[in-house]
Amino acid sequence: MDENPCIICVAITGSVPRKEDNPNLPVSIDEQIESTQEAFEAGATIVHCHVRNDDQTVSSDPDRFERLKLGIEKHCKGMVIQFSTGGRSGKGKERGGMLSICPEMASLTVGSNNFPSRVYENPPELIDWLSSEMNKYSIQPEIEAFDLSHIFQAAEMYHDGRLKGKPYIQFVMGVKNAMPVDRDVFEFYLKTIKRILPTANWCGAGIGKYQKIVNEWCIELGGHTRTGLEDNIRLNKQTLAPSNAALVSLTKEICDKYNRPVADWIQTRNILGIPTDRRQNSNSYV
Ligand code: ZN
Repeated sequence: MDENPCIICVAITGSVPRKEDNPNLPVSIDEQIESTQEAFEAGATIVHCHVRNDDQTVSSDPDRFERLKLGIEKHCKGMVIQFSTGGRSGKGKERGGMLSICPEMASLTVGSNNFPSRVYENPPELIDWLSSEMNKYSIQPEIEAFDLSHIFQAAEMYHDGRLKGKPYIQFVMGVKNAMPVDRDVFEFYLKTIKRILPTANWCGAGIGKYQKIVNEWCIELGGHTRTGLEDNIRLNKQTLAPSNAALVSLTKEICDKYNRPVADWIQTRNILGIPTDRRQNSNSYV
């Protein structure tokens, strides 16, 4: 039976929203662990992680990443932990300073584009360094495609061996000054992936008010999807999201609408090509 389960990734905190925007945003490590556990129980099986300092400013402190990882491993059996190497959390190689902690996944952007108020800089030598670190520590990348050229760049890197593992590409749409949320472009992204990187799994993330519509397109067209307070702090126009779990539940409802079962952690690992028993072998497992 071909039931094609949908993986829900939850991006719990990010580097932009603050508690002033939504008091339910998890910021401290304890809050992040608790919020991840609720989201996991609601159906999310990948957690995308950034860490913050006590004053909510962004951090790339490996020690904080390690505490978060240990807490999630302890409370969310089998959940795949993905660290962000995004450009808002540090400068240059700081962005990959925590990869030696060996999360099973990490996000990777393979080209530059504009962000709301600056350039999101991803120079080729930094991309090559981040990908080599991911290879060194057997970390599966999730490619964040903010532009069509990023999909071509990722394909080239998989083909020449700079990227390893089963390709997993995320279309990010709706960031101001980057790719807008556009159905034709979304379908063209998908068609392009199927043509130049046919073994890839794919997912999508919509920012702000576009989160739900991108979730819906991904689920409808057979992909995986991302939700969470990093990308969107609202349940709807009038209401702030009470939790990451509430956004996961909303995504699950869309899966029900399209008869897509939500992937459990074993299915998620099988789809991604990540071993189901890796935790037991991990040095940091507690
Ligand atoms: Zn992120």
